[in-house]
Amino acid sequence: MIDSSLKDIAAALRAKTVSAVELATDSLARIAARDGQINAFVTVDHDGALAAARTADARIAAGDAGPLTGIPLAHKDVFCTEGVLTTCGSKMLANFTSPYDAHVVSLLKAAGAVMVGKTNMDEFAMGSSNESSHSGPTRNPWDTTKVPGGSSGGSAAAVAARMVPIATGTDTGGSVRQPAALCGITGIKPTYGSVSRFGMIAYASSLDQGGAFARSAEDCAQLLTAMMGHDPRDSTSLERSYDDCSAGLSQPLAGLRIGLPREFFAEGMSADVRAAVDAAIAEYRKLGATLVEVSLPNARLAIPAYYVIAPAEASSNLSRFDGVRYGHRAASYTDLNDMYCKSRAEGFGAEVKRRILVGTYVLSHGYYDAYYIKAQKLRRLIAQDFAAAFEHCDIIAGPTNPTVAYGLGEKTADPVQMYLGDIYTVAVNLAGLPALSHPAGFGAGALPVGLQLIGNYFGEARLLGAAHQFQQATDWHTRAPTVQGA
Ligand code: GLN
Repeated sequence: MIDSSLKDIAAALRAKTVSAVELATDSLARIAARDGQINAFVTVDHDGALAAARTADARIAAGDAGPLTGIPLAHKDVFCTEGVLTTCGSKMLANFTSPYDAHVVSLLKAAGAVMVGKTNMDEFAMGSSNESSHSGPTRNPWDTTKVPGGSSGGSAAAVAARMVPIATGTDTGGSVRQPAALCGITGIKPTYGSVSRFGMIAYASSLDQGGAFARSAEDCAQLLTAMMGHDPRDSTSLERSYDDCSAGLSQPLAGLRIGLPREFFAEGMSADVRAAVDAAIAEYRKLGATLVEVSLPNARLAIPAYYVIAPAEASSNLSRFDGVRYGHRAASYTDLNDMYCKSRAEGFGAEVKRRILVGTYVLSHGYYDAYYIKAQKLRRLIAQDFAAAFEHCDIIAGPTNPTVAYGLGEKTADPVQMYLGDIYTVAVNLAGLPALSHPAGFGAGALPVGLQLIGNYFGEARLLGAAHQFQQATDWHTRAPTVQGA
């Protein structure tokens, strides 16, 4: 039943052909059987899941169920969960249990979704491969010698390996879209400000945004609708009325103008990814969309701008981890300063330290204008490029990733190579736009390829609608990896 669409699961729950407890039990059994291979979960909340499922069953019996009531789900371990460990993939928070729920977690609890556990991630969401986690790397369900993508790789792998039908993630520079692409599922990051960041452990606050994973665009739409909304506890949460993300699902593709940025197709994509992306775009055209060439002339500056701004914000955000109130504290130290130094030296991994150093450097006196201010100017130019492109098209399409999933350990020694893998995703975050990735076929090694669709501000329903129309006509999103222990 977990393999069915959310709509079908909800209908079965209402018809009482399955119970929420049975669904949770099935999800937990799959995790027990499959996660030894994948390592998608940091924490499995067996008892909590069954208790939530019993509550969901009572709600269903009382006729008080919503579309997500009784649906098993996993949260990325960046979201604070009351009473359940929240590690953020770091030794610094390996012992941290939050006293409160993140806003997203409360919304989904209130909707009756059943959290089965917390998923693995790159430490503090910094990474593209899910290898920097304190809990060890997550492995790609399609080939366990490959990375699942990051930083929300645990969530993507959990959905791809059919352990849960839906999961949450966060996307600061691609961390929902990129693992969705590498794991062969659908993932969306909405317009900046639509999902509350309250209780979502901060990496780079002006870029971080919660997002949704599912196998299909239709299911993503349901999950994202439940996650969006104004929250006064997040000062960047937008006060507006939020559309139902499912509103565009039945809209045909005829008349949709898809912009293809010249710069995305010039070079950089591997031949197998290019072939799958071209074929998917041809399918959109066959279904009635019109293709227009657009230009994002400053797209090439997105990586340097992002890798100044994100570390700058990270260096500030991560200063709160000092070993005093919560998190890791060194066992022995000479004075207060020594305690801070040792706790941080022991608690943070290499990539996090690198970001803190880079961030502190670009914000320092004398370098602030040369790096940080310059990067902010580039950020504005990049946003203006998108605005100009959207005068000629409704959505923009391109690759999510330059290649299919690569080998574990292949890029860990060369951070710049790792950063370059974000070439197609980071510009979207700099501009604050919504974007999704959906399965678009397979490349080298029979590994999944993702197609990225980028929308204008608040264009989530349109994006998901387009992807849904594509998924009605194709079956890439229904393909499942063979996971041992299945
Ligand atoms: N790979 C990017 C980084 O390491 C994006 C990560 C993310 O979106 N959280 O910063």
